Amino acid sequence: MKAIMKEKAGPGLVLKEVKKPDVNDLGPRDVLVKVRRASICGTDVHIYKWDEWSQSRIIPPLITGHEMAGEVVAVGSAVTRVSIGDLVAAETHIPCESCYQCKTGRMHVCKNLKILGVDTNGVFAEYAIIPESVLWRFSSEIPLDFASVMEPFGNAIHTAAVTNLLGKNVLITGAGPIGLMAIQIAKVAGASTVIVSEVDPMRIKMAQENGADVIINPAEKDLVKEVYKILDDGVDVLLEMSGNRKAFEDGLKCVTMGGEVSVLGIFGGKIDISFDSLITMRGLTVYGITGRRMFETWRIADELLRAKKVDLSKVVTHIIPFEQWEKGFELMLNKQCGKVVLNLD
Ligand code: NAD
Ligand code: ZN
Repeated sequence: MKAIMKEKAGPGLVLKEVKKPDVNDLGPRDVLVKVRRASICGTDVHIYKWDEWSQSRIIPPLITGHEMAGEVVAVGSAVTRVSIGDLVAAETHIPCESCYQCKTGRMHVCKNLKILGVDTNGVFAEYAIIPESVLWRFSSEIPLDFASVMEPFGNAIHTAAVTNLLGKNVLITGAGPIGLMAIQIAKVAGASTVIVSEVDPMRIKMAQENGADVIINPAEKDLVKEVYKILDDGVDVLLEMSGNRKAFEDGLKCVTMGGEVSVLGIFGGKIDISFDSLITMRGLTVYGITGRRMFETWRIADELLRAKKVDLSKVVTHIIPFEQWEKGFELMLNKQCGKVVLNLD
């Protein structure tokens, strides 16, 4: 079968012919999935670039990719949760199911977490072996192109769902694919005003298309001043989705005293902010978000897509044949896209 691999330590990836896994390769709770769509995540781009994080984490040879929608074609001897023919997406955080966190309803922060396509062979291939514990049978109404991005969609939901957004003013810093999804989610959740800060012209346009009420480019205007011009009390909730230190610092200044902050963005190292004056003395509640809650977040994602409450056609900007994966990575590297989905049909 064809697979996109990190063959050896160093930048880049290669499309290679490798042995197709079959039923003999399955552990008792493993499932063989025929991958029909796979989407490119920022993590795949990190692995492509071979940055410091990838060098410390990835052990080649490895099939990369973790976001996918596919069809179950074979199951291990003890699999009970899915059957051949089921259409599935995958939670990419593979929990051990036996640690303190897993036993207490917090599998998404499992102590022994393994990540699909990072610690195990991933989904940028015609077939993938995935444990049944992370498979999600999505509703038949959901198109494959959108099912493939349910995982990052779940990130946006998990971040936004920390608090009740009904009638709240919300600031989203960063309108990457996940920030764009969060705009629609905040709207569905009843936010009264959704303000977005974003610096990239294409992403600004996309934020508009996804229904942002106000978009501020902090490279051109002072975010804090602009927000207080619109809202005397600032915003109730900040959803940090940029991974940019300055966006976070200014975002915190925009939050009303006693407000809430949900942080998904990864800063990639230590950041310097005035914790006392920006967070403690202003009585903010800050939530750190990792992954998706298993499987409350998936249920919400499924419902929002099944009932067409969120339209991901304004986030999925490119659907391209698997063989053109290099074009997909180029789009991601230049950030000239929303989500890029590879079609393996
Ligand atoms: P992305 O990098 O495509 O989006 C980030 C956006 O922020 C970009 O559009 C960029 O132009 C914008 N930005 C940069 N500087 C800014 C500034 N000063 N002000 C406003 N906007 C600015 O990433 P994504 O895929 O949408 O993911 C969003 C963030 O979430 C990233 O930091 C990613 O690493 C992180 N992430 C975290 C988890 C988790 O489990 N915690 C999972 C997935 C992604
Ligand atoms: Zn665990």
